[in-house]
Amino acid sequence: MPDIIQLLPDNIANQIAAGEVIQRPASAVKELLENAVDAGATEIKLIVNDAGKALIQVIDNGKGMSETDARMSFERHATSKIKNIDDLFHIKTMGFRGEALASIAAVSQVELKSKKAEDITGTCIEIDNSVVRKQEAVAMQQGTSIAMKNLFFNVPARRNFLKSNPSELRHIIDEFIRVSMSFPEIFFSLTSNGQQVFHLESGSLKQRIIQILGNNYSAKLVSVQEQSDYMNIYGFVGKPETTKKTRGDQYFFVNNRFIKSAYLNHAVMGAFDEMIARDSFPMYTLFIDLDPSQIDINVHPTKQEIKFEDEKIVYAFVKSAVKHALAQFSIAPTLDFELDPSIQQLDSISKPFTEEKKSSAASSSLYNTFSQKNQAHFIENKSGLKHWKDFYEPAEKSTPVVTNLTFEHSNDELLANNPEPGFVSLRSLTSEPLMVIEHLTQLHNTYIIVQNDTGFLVIQQQNAHERILYERFIKAVDGKPIAIQQNLFPITLELTAMDMVILTELLPELHFLGYHLEPFGNNTFVIQGTPADVGQGNEKLAIEKMLEQYKHFSADLKYTKREKLFRSLAWQQAIKGGTPLTQKEMKTLVEGLFACNMPNITPNGKPTYTAFKKNELDKMFGR
Ligand code: ADP
Ligand code: MG
Repeated sequence: MPDIIQLLPDNIANQIAAGEVIQRPASAVKELLENAVDAGATEIKLIVNDAGKALIQVIDNGKGMSETDARMSFERHATSKIKNIDDLFHIKTMGFRGEALASIAAVSQVELKSKKAEDITGTCIEIDNSVVRKQEAVAMQQGTSIAMKNLFFNVPARRNFLKSNPSELRHIIDEFIRVSMSFPEIFFSLTSNGQQVFHLESGSLKQRIIQILGNNYSAKLVSVQEQSDYMNIYGFVGKPETTKKTRGDQYFFVNNRFIKSAYLNHAVMGAFDEMIARDSFPMYTLFIDLDPSQIDINVHPTKQEIKFEDEKIVYAFVKSAVKHALAQFSIAPTLDFELDPSIQQLDSISKPFTEEKKSSAASSSLYNTFSQKNQAHFIENKSGLKHWKDFYEPAEKSTPVVTNLTFEHSNDELLANNPEPGFVSLRSLTSEPLMVIEHLTQLHNTYIIVQNDTGFLVIQQQNAHERILYERFIKAVDGKPIAIQQNLFPITLELTAMDMVILTELLPELHFLGYHLEPFGNNTFVIQGTPADVGQGNEKLAIEKMLEQYKHFSADLKYTKREKLFRSLAWQQAIKGGTPLTQKEMKTLVEGLFACNMPNITPNGKPTYTAFKKNELDKMFGR
């Protein structure tokens, strides 16, 4: 029998190893940006085409590489950053394994240009499938440019695995944000298909946060800053009124490296505690610095997870630092820490929260919005659509008014079309066809009572409206587009780069739903028209809220893009509980609900109404 074991050829071994480092365009972006930062650049430009599938290029003005280093840098385990195993525990740079460039060269066509300040000419190297094709001298400025083309051209299985361009671009933007957020002193730009998405001038951390996350955070950031012998923390948290439905705007950096930590997130959430509603997420960008020997960043290959030598101290420190920061801006709940004695001595904890501070905080605008926030309806009413009544006007003109509604569909038909869970049991509550929809009663500005021939129904107005809108949207994209009313004065909508990408993705569907939006460059859209039957006046807010909700759903893989959009818009446009309705409005709502294919539940499966039987009532009263 011949021997059967063979060594894999280098390029195959590299391709396999590359899989761990470069999973998608965004992973290459991260590695290249980090290399540029490590090289001491003050200006870093990222250029991508086709969401990085066709081209990813990073140009920096860092220290550059010599001719030999340029060539060496593509060898596996070639690094200038560690020399022995001890270094691993004191590492301060972003990269250190010496795998990134080797991996990139294994799965794409690379062109590297680099020049050191002291050299007269630079070096240009072309590599294809780990093989050097060309090396020559070039005239260039100090710094490095690495362009990688046709990612995974030689690993079709991986290439096919990539997601759509918008989705890969979102991953790239995520990585870009994580790196640029932690180095506000460096200029960064991102250009995608020739369009500049980010242009971040160097500045303070605060400026950088606002540049990236949007102007609405300006004047809404609370500075966090505590120092101790063991660790330091600094950064910003958003004031409680800026919380969102998604955890998107939350960043932790340890020694300037972005990390994900459910544990530390819990510490921050704990500090916000009662100040924010459940299921809402405050913005935070926090930097923790501590002795590298106190952490093990080597636990995960993509280095986003981290192990602290002493987690409990870090947790307590983060929590008390954020709590202290918030306390200075609002009436914080009494400082009741049950902490490690070493933490108790920290300034943040031992410093008294004086009466003076309390009263100045009470008069601050934050405190005011804050206490209003607790009155849910106050906010709801303000943000709901003012002219929601207009919603039904067109519908009413075309549908004859019927007092005795009958269900259009048989139960079987409904079941076949709508295999949603919980449907059968809810459905069985409602076999009463006849309703009296004169003299409707609204209770608590939220529930509508409708008498039918076997008892009565209690309808939850917001849930009912969500169902109506949702079915309308489905019909709209099925060929009954919702009429657009052109705005007399087009409204501009300025978005963050991330929202810009999401909205661009949704444009075609939004058009069917009555929104006419046009990109206007510079992260701006112009709202040219809105659904004819949605009141005018807060188009901007409506779209911002819709995006927010869309992102909230986007973790949910079970929904398609359309489905998410429909649900988001229905949620956003639905008339909220707590809104008083006129007879006519209630009537239209009830009629609209029972004209739906599936009147009994919201798109998310909440009941829209509950039926009560008269004979049950009779029994209760001994009749
Ligand atoms: P690592 O960053 O882990 O050391 P890489 O494969 O990313 O490994 O890079 C290999 C080496 O190439 C680095 O250690 C560095 O010396 C050099 N290098 C990479 N990118 C640059 C750059 N943009 N400017 C200067 N040197 C670079
Ligand atoms: Mg590197």
